[in-house]
Amino acid sequence: MKTALVLGGGGFIGGHLAKRLKKEGYWVRVVDIKDKHEFWDKDEICHDYVSGDLRDPSIVAASFRVERDPNHKDVIYGYSLLKQPYTIIDSFDEVYQLAADMGGAGYIFTGDNDANVMHNSALINLNVVHEATKTNVKRVFYSSSACMYPEHNQLDPDNPNCEESSAYPANPDSEYGWEKLFSERLFLAFNRNYNLDVRVARFHNIFGPQGTWIGGKEKAPAAMCRKAAESNGELEVWGDGLQTRSFLYIDDCIESILRFMRQEEFRGPVNIGSEEMVTINQLAEIAIQLSGKDIKINNIEGQDFIDKYGFKCPVGVRGRNSDNKLYNEKMSWVPELPLLHGMKETFKWINKQVNG
Ligand code: NAD
Repeated sequence: MKTALVLGGGGFIGGHLAKRLKKEGYWVRVVDIKDKHEFWDKDEICHDYVSGDLRDPSIVAASFRVERDPNHKDVIYGYSLLKQPYTIIDSFDEVYQLAADMGGAGYIFTGDNDANVMHNSALINLNVVHEATKTNVKRVFYSSSACMYPEHNQLDPDNPNCEESSAYPANPDSEYGWEKLFSERLFLAFNRNYNLDVRVARFHNIFGPQGTWIGGKEKAPAAMCRKAAESNGELEVWGDGLQTRSFLYIDDCIESILRFMRQEEFRGPVNIGSEEMVTINQLAEIAIQLSGKDIKINNIEGQDFIDKYGFKCPVGVRGRNSDNKLYNEKMSWVPELPLLHGMKETFKWINKQVNG
């Protein structure tokens, strides 16, 4: 029985990933600062759910321990049964590092959370890479972000350049992006110096059901679905709505992660995203269409936005799209679910949360 450790598995992508791995027959441990997954019971996604803070090196050290019952090798002890002092009987076959202090534009781009985002995520990554090396983990996945790409290549909404090789000279437009850049280099450095077998991917806007949809940390697709589900005639879009993005549905994201993990040669960094680029207003139109309501888009920016919210409108780069050439070349596959499919599933789920 293969073993997998999903760090940040109490969150959106980690929860879906852990669920898929468990379904495939892995023994799965999830570690997250949350007490439980917001939308799933623990045993739906894993065998062992650990509520712990990965900024704490002792929690990370304990999370990486795999102890088996001496008489029944397929029985692996849960975290609460680990003995002191720890004995490492085995190392994890696969570790997925998805834990991060993050959120949508309203969290990343206001500037208010810059110090926490950098400090918390960097600490987690420093602890994880150290412990993965120490315990001889067989392979580690690290989730970087398209936010690490330079702002100057994403000024034209029709022709953004997010080819992997365009990352340098670096110029991300947020501290979140700078931390991701640092941490992807950290994982690759541990590969070079300590032979840690790493896979580094740059996610581009992943969305779908069972993700954050309210509270300020939600991303654009969830925000549009929620606003359309709540609306009585108007839907507010931050900025002029002409900024472009692509969005990858969660099922395609999980498939892309696993295909990348299950090949031997290529470590990345590689984009995991969709090439179906739309404007934010077009995304809002899709949500409106799915709601079946008569809703008008209200673009809010400039002084009007500041007067209403008390901070500058956080819109991010002008254009961003995944470039899937490298992924296709290495994995002979690319994500293929259309945006409309994902939005239908997401709207259905968020509409239920909003309207019951
Ligand atoms: P998420 O916020 O739903 O999941 C992250 C999880 O990490 C959360 O459950 C959170 O509680 C946990 N976490 C945060 N701090 C922790 C700590 N100190 N100790 C333990 N757990 C902690 O986010 P997600 O959308 O599932 O993203 C997963 C990863 O993918 C993140 O690293 C994120 O930066 C990256 N990413 C996501 C997207 C996207 O569109 N969703 C895009 C680019 C990159």
